[in-house]
Amino acid sequence: MPEKLPEKLLQIETRPPQGDWKNPKVEFRKGVFCYSALPKNLNYLGLPNAREWQPFNEDWKLPPDWKRIILEGMKERLNKYRSFRLFMETCVRCGACADKCHFYVGSSDPKNMPVLRAELIRSVYRRYFTLTGRIFGSLAGGRELIEDVIKEWFYYFYQCTECRRCSVFCPYGIDTAEITMMGRELLNLIGCNINWVLEPAANCFRTGNHLGIQPHGFKDSIDFAAEELSEIVGIPIEVPINKKGAEILFVMPSADYFGTPHYYTLLGYLALFKEIGLDYTVSAFASEGGNFGLFTSHEMMKRLNAKIYDEAKRLGVKWILGGECGHMWRVLHQYMSTMNGPAEFLEAPVSPITGTVFENARSTKMVHICEFTADLIHNGKLKLDPSRNDKLKVTYHDSCNTARGMGILEEPRYIIRNVCNNFYEMPENTIREQTFCCGSGSGLGTDENLEMRLRGGFPRANAVKYVKEKHGVNLLTCICAIDKATLPALMDYWVGGVEVAGVHELLGNALVMTGGKERTTDLRGEPFVEQKEEEAVHA
Ligand code: SF4
Ligand code: SF4
Repeated sequence: MPEKLPEKLLQIETRPPQGDWKNPKVEFRKGVFCYSALPKNLNYLGLPNAREWQPFNEDWKLPPDWKRIILEGMKERLNKYRSFRLFMETCVRCGACADKCHFYVGSSDPKNMPVLRAELIRSVYRRYFTLTGRIFGSLAGGRELIEDVIKEWFYYFYQCTECRRCSVFCPYGIDTAEITMMGRELLNLIGCNINWVLEPAANCFRTGNHLGIQPHGFKDSIDFAAEELSEIVGIPIEVPINKKGAEILFVMPSADYFGTPHYYTLLGYLALFKEIGLDYTVSAFASEGGNFGLFTSHEMMKRLNAKIYDEAKRLGVKWILGGECGHMWRVLHQYMSTMNGPAEFLEAPVSPITGTVFENARSTKMVHICEFTADLIHNGKLKLDPSRNDKLKVTYHDSCNTARGMGILEEPRYIIRNVCNNFYEMPENTIREQTFCCGSGSGLGTDENLEMRLRGGFPRANAVKYVKEKHGVNLLTCICAIDKATLPALMDYWVGGVEVAGVHELLGNALVMTGGKERTTDLRGEPFVEQKEEEAVHA
């Protein structure tokens, strides 16, 4: 462990805390919570109680009738979402989920056990919505809804990345992520949200993407990428933007055209589309796959998801292809059809290159880039030279939303095995459905809560460390924009010497393009083969 690490992150208290868990008091200590949403973002999105405040303030400036709003909001949601009522009533406190949350593993705070996280809201449900709770109160496991409970909800529902790992182990299928989503949705009714969620949501609503990039900025970025890729591969490349009548609309997370290492994934997609001659377009309006509505409310999720479909309709495409994103796919897979779909105006997706019909996308009409590429490889449509990635020893992090959220487990591995020669899996209980979260998902990837992110990311980092020490792994691949943004810091902190990349970056390295020049560099402009020090000096 590097010496620079503050000792406190390694101190994990494993003794049970003294005192009653029902006491809602929390300490908003620097490094473990996120700042509140700015009033301009609440106003933009039409959310209530826009004001200046911070979680560490004594006075949260809640509306005078906040208690009525929360209880009525709970009642409405208990009637509307059967899952919410079921999850409130079902838990038998068996404890199977208790040690499965990365935030509990990294912090040892009992209220980060999924069972107890859910109990924070379940206890209020018991007090106000069950007969025994109304009569016997705390004797029946109920808790009074007081202002400190709201502060406690805020603290712990923004220390849950909605990753659903706990649900895999619950014998009753209780999904604590859904409970967190309800908790956040209720908090939003009284104006309690974090800026790292609401600013991207507001930007997305205004300009189509999280970063607030205007259409001309989007075009500049895409054109720049096309030009740079042309130089790397020696083939002129143009990317169609807002092209009406294209067969396919391609939607990616905005980080792909504005962040690193995401950008190299973008180069990988563009190389692939050029090579297979795909008739596609990107859109300067549906310029974001990610959906921060998932972390706000069902209503917000629906609003942000709709823009992709509106744009597909406007451009007259047949179907939609989506890039390496996490929550875009969770929204698509789990909610789109009941929120905005089925998208009857589009056609069932068919690969124009292989003829494969993507039956799984009949309702959403949207295919994941890994499904699309795996199908191309499977049908022998790509010429690949995996030795170009020989300097890399690769492992793969299953992003929670694509793995647990939609079951994309084999396709990325199939691509990786075809584009590189050195692939090593992390331990079985840390991958696939049991994958550990990056610790920064669901809008928590900001800097002010870095300590909590590093604590929450500890189990994932630990598994990477294991394969680094055993096999010399030096690259962690993933297919989620939040992972690509947050895993580098996690790797630097806990592991060291491990880079992060998208799967389509490796594909772009290995892809032998028709008519291209003899390539010696990868998509990062670095030599395919690791140069020895003295060769580099003479190069
Ligand atoms: S959804 Fe993930 S972060 Fe939330 S309680 Fe479950 S395991 Fe923890
Ligand atoms: S595993 Fe399920 S039933 Fe058991 S304590 Fe956790 S949420 Fe409750």
